[in-house]
Amino acid sequence: MEQLMRDFFLFLSKNKALTKLAKRYGLRFGASRFVAGETIELATKVIQELNKNGLLVTIDYLGEFVDNEKEANEMADNSIIAIEAIGREKLQSQLSLKMTSMGLDISDQVVLHNMRRILEAAKKNDVFVTIDMEDYSRAQKTIEIFKQLKSEYDNVGTVIQAYLYRTEKDIVELNDFHPNLRLVKGAYKESPEVAYPDKKDVDVNFKKIIKMHMLNGNYTAVATHDDAIIEYTKQLAKKHGITNDQFEFQMLYGIRPERQVELVKDGYTMRVYVPYGTDWYGYFMRRLAERPANVAFVLKGILKK
Ligand SMILES: Cc1cc2nc3c(=O)[nH]c(=O)nc-3n(C[C@H](O)[C@H](O)[C@H](O)COP(=O)(O)OP(=O)(O)OC[C@H]3O[C@@H](n4cnc5c(N)ncnc54)[C@H](O)[C@@H]3O)c2cc1C
Repeated sequence: MEQLMRDFFLFLSKNKALTKLAKRYGLRFGASRFVAGETIELATKVIQELNKNGLLVTIDYLGEFVDNEKEANEMADNSIIAIEAIGREKLQSQLSLKMTSMGLDISDQVVLHNMRRILEAAKKNDVFVTIDMEDYSRAQKTIEIFKQLKSEYDNVGTVIQAYLYRTEKDIVELNDFHPNLRLVKGAYKESPEVAYPDKKDVDVNFKKIIKMHMLNGNYTAVATHDDAIIEYTKQLAKKHGITNDQFEFQMLYGIRPERQVELVKDGYTMRVYVPYGTDWYGYFMRRLAERPANVAFVLKGILKK
């Protein structure tokens, strides 16, 4: 049943007609639990509140799978607006983005042009930028472009997904760049030809890559809501004398907020991924796919209206 629901919401996340409808009708139907608002002003307020509680942030102007240059340029402009807001308002925030929204599917030239514009603005405002990892078909290209950008800029990192078979090799190959990586389980629907279908295997691989990357001496962001993985990371750090400034935990806005604050109180760095913008539909559907309890929460919200 859980697998069926997951497949259903991941299918919905790619539906173009529903994406358009969602954009038109705004943040209704419970999406506001996971999305900070449609404007940078609303997102700024949310970030200020999180910062007050000791939580760091990475902000994401929502959008993905852009297929024309004009829209890709506008997406990049909006990320730059977010970076400037971080600088101006002195927010304790980094930036996250998806390269399909910067023109990854259009051409190398378009995506590199937009990424360099963003990284220049980020350098000026002392903001770190993480390139989210999208579906498997874009993984190789994303890593190649990341390597190119990392050779030009210090303030850029990317994401590695534990569910992919290729991941261990990526961690080994990326080590030459000493990258700051966010490690995650993986959120897209992938074929068993490229990704572990069984959650248990994903968890084993997740622990393996956390250990590899941390013991390689690279800064590691462990992005998960899973207490078993959090505990594993804490113990690993303790055992190998890895100090708390060498790694951080990350969670999504609206998911386990009490746990986020608890980890800060225990002396760990916790960064919250805060998405905002009008293109929230695909992101929202992936959150529903992850956890049936999220669907129940949203349904309750609708019924109360
Ligand atoms: C900051 C951040 C950035 C991310 N970036 C990317 C990316 O670039 N690319 C990508 O593919 N994916 C990304 N993801 C998503 C990620 O791949 C997973 O899909 C998502 O985090 C769910 O997996 P999980 O590790 O939280 O554990 P799950 O396997 O979903 O959950 C494990 C356990 O955690 C606990 N748990 C989970 N949710 C809750 C809850 N709401 N309340 C209480 N307990 C809960 C439960 O005990 C559950 O059994 C990101 C996730 C985070 C947190």
